[in-house]
Amino acid sequence: MLTKVESLRKVLELEREKGYADTAVIGGLDKFLRRWAGQALESITSPPLMAHIRRLRLDDPKYASLNQQQRQKWIADIFTFLESIKTEKAGGKLPPKSVTPPRRRVAAVPKATGQSLDLPVTSLKGVSAAMAAKFKRLEVETIRDLLYFFPHRHLDYSQTIFISELTEGEEQTITANVWQSQVTMLGGRRGTEAIVGDETGNVRAVWFNNPYIAKSLPTNARVVLSGRVRLFGGRHVFESPEWELLEDKELVHTGRLVPLYSLTRGLKPRQVRKLMKQVVDLFAGQVEDFLPPNLRKRCNLVELPRAIAQAHYPEDEAAKDDARTRLAFDELFLLQLGVLGRRRKWQESQPGTPVSLDKPALDTFLKSLPFELTAAQQKVLKELLADLEKPRAMSRLLQGEVGSGKTVVATAALLAAAASGCQGAFMAPTEILAEQHFSSVSELLSRTAGEVSEEDNLRRFSGLLSKPLTLALLIGDLKQVSKKAIQQRVREGDIDIIIGTHAIIQKEVGFNKLGLAVVDEQHRFGVAQRSALRQKGFNPHVLVMTATPIPRTLALTLYGDLDLSVIDELPPGRQSIKTRWLKQAQRASAYAFLRRQVAEGRQAFIICPLVEESEAIQARAAVAEYERLSGEVFRDLKLGLIHGRLSAAEKDGVMHRFRDGELDILVSTPVVEVGIDVPNATVMLVESADRFGLSQLHQFRGRVGRGTEQSYCMLLAENPSEIGRARLDLIEKIQDGFQLAEEDLKLRGPGEFFGTRQSGLPDLRMAKLSDIKLLELARAEAIRLFEQDSRLGKAEHKLLSAELARVWQAGGEWS
Ligand code: ADP
Ligand code: MG
Repeated sequence: MLTKVESLRKVLELEREKGYADTAVIGGLDKFLRRWAGQALESITSPPLMAHIRRLRLDDPKYASLNQQQRQKWIADIFTFLESIKTEKAGGKLPPKSVTPPRRRVAAVPKATGQSLDLPVTSLKGVSAAMAAKFKRLEVETIRDLLYFFPHRHLDYSQTIFISELTEGEEQTITANVWQSQVTMLGGRRGTEAIVGDETGNVRAVWFNNPYIAKSLPTNARVVLSGRVRLFGGRHVFESPEWELLEDKELVHTGRLVPLYSLTRGLKPRQVRKLMKQVVDLFAGQVEDFLPPNLRKRCNLVELPRAIAQAHYPEDEAAKDDARTRLAFDELFLLQLGVLGRRRKWQESQPGTPVSLDKPALDTFLKSLPFELTAAQQKVLKELLADLEKPRAMSRLLQGEVGSGKTVVATAALLAAAASGCQGAFMAPTEILAEQHFSSVSELLSRTAGEVSEEDNLRRFSGLLSKPLTLALLIGDLKQVSKKAIQQRVREGDIDIIIGTHAIIQKEVGFNKLGLAVVDEQHRFGVAQRSALRQKGFNPHVLVMTATPIPRTLALTLYGDLDLSVIDELPPGRQSIKTRWLKQAQRASAYAFLRRQVAEGRQAFIICPLVEESEAIQARAAVAEYERLSGEVFRDLKLGLIHGRLSAAEKDGVMHRFRDGELDILVSTPVVEVGIDVPNATVMLVESADRFGLSQLHQFRGRVGRGTEQSYCMLLAENPSEIGRARLDLIEKIQDGFQLAEEDLKLRGPGEFFGTRQSGLPDLRMAKLSDIKLLELARAEAIRLFEQDSRLGKAEHKLLSAELARVWQAGGEWS
């Protein structure tokens, strides 16, 4: 039942996001709901719950025929219902028809004075265990967490106007007298209706579904209303405005900049606002400012207690901005200190192995290539070689688009390591990629002649060094004996360069003298893996390569412990990929186009829509799409399917068949990266393209255009949101990944670009990674501080050091 509820919630949230246009699901919401209710009714045993689903008409919805306002209300009712079954744990109890009036709110004063900020939220009066449980789901457990539970934005209700000045559609605030308030039927439900007035006139206010408000608005009371006004029968009406009695207190819900907290799971906005106001008033002043005062002044930042208070309940816009700047600085500064500390830790832990460069061998290699390195490749190779010569272990991130020639540069670096008597490892995320690297490295080295092939997975090249250079491939597919043999030879130092998957190289191989590890696709190779590599008893130079363009500021933030190299130029003569976004109505012609390409001997990718975070649900959706495509649309063609629920071997199997041309079309979930070269693939079709970020779309597009044929990227998107449309327009126009990444960063909010969660770094809530100036300031200050007191051991850095430990601990992976 729970997963069903989740899927319903997701769809409705999407529908709400898309403005109730009935575009959340293909085929319309009614169809989806009918199916959903059918399944739900089958699986529940509680008659009241069934009755409720029927009462909401989920089993026989008429969504398509409702107007927007009705749709909005109906969906809101369903959300209320979903909340109620969540709290009742799908028990037999009938959820209440409407929201019950809360008890008189109790002021949230601490039970005792002198409480620490680390006490649980339940130590606040008025916070029940049930409410604490809801907060816990928002990762708020202590009073400090509450202080740092910032609103995602504020409504500007600060300008009070007269009733005669009200205009339709805008968010406005009035202060008025209550003339009359009563419970009334609104849209078939009990609600509240009030007439209020000021010296310029009267206006009606209604609250759907909220009869209890009537009692809270006694006649002649002074009330502040904030919200949108609509025109109804030629008259202005406030629809479900925020309301607050004008008493001898600071306003919380109206008449000011009012905080909006991203609420979920049964926490009511008014309840949270009220609580937050009390918490801020009582506890913000107790927060100690951990920034050294001179730094704070130099950077022009407000004090922390004020910043926290103003971030919740700002006096005005300027105060709010100052607060946000301070809090954002903190996040970035702590992040930078953390990554710098991490870097220091591994650099100090062990010395690296300096490589003495064998210039003639490198020259021979470079001259043997059938092309000249691009200027960007030359620059990066120089950077790498300079690092390798140093006694300090290299830790470098190499970014470059697919096809920009990273492999050649990495091969040169591996050769340099081998020439000085060290071993090199080249690690890929999947077996098929490892095989691909093995064959491209072999081919690159083979031009110097003298290749002897001992076995499929072993090569010797005699034309480069004074002794033969040995290259081996190590993957799970190999026979046990030959795997063992290779591992043995690696241990003895008989193999110079070993290529394999991250997993195999890390787990099973003991090296003789590992000098350089090249790691392809840093996405799946996080901080933890990097340190694991270092703990193998030596401290090799590490080169991490990625084809995901990351804007420089972001790279400095997320990988501040790595040096950066960028190949920002493609080899000459690369074709651009024709990119078009298509509406639903053009689907048939997209399929026809794909079919023509296949008839000409080409192959195509189809990326399924992103339905759910959950891999299981995603996989099911992909299976359904695959069945639809192979059963109806492309019956006569050969299709393959790949999704996250397949084992690595199964995935590799499908990829192999596709690469070898046995399949015409590869259907894939978006989560599965199909990072292999299939030069014959010329069509990439992406479903629901508006739901992907620019960088991801660019990655998809990079799967084609690897051969000589003109390639195409078709992006299907129905009714994209404004931002979705902006993205699609950009990707149609821009081919350059870095430019797209920069644009993506501008379009998206903090953290979203590259889920900081996944990277094992602390969360960024206030900082926008697009705020380059602040980021650079934070980095500069972090470096400055680090130079003075890299261990934060000085007395004036004690608070800072504690804060650093606290946020990084919360960040996860870091240790
Ligand atoms: P990446 O690893 O960055 O995706 P590769 O190193 O695999 O790119 O290079 C893609 C293709 O371009 C390979 O066939 C490679 O031989 C070729 N190539 C690399 N550098 C150059 C260059 N400077 N000029 C022409 N072709 C190049
Ligand atoms: Mg590559």
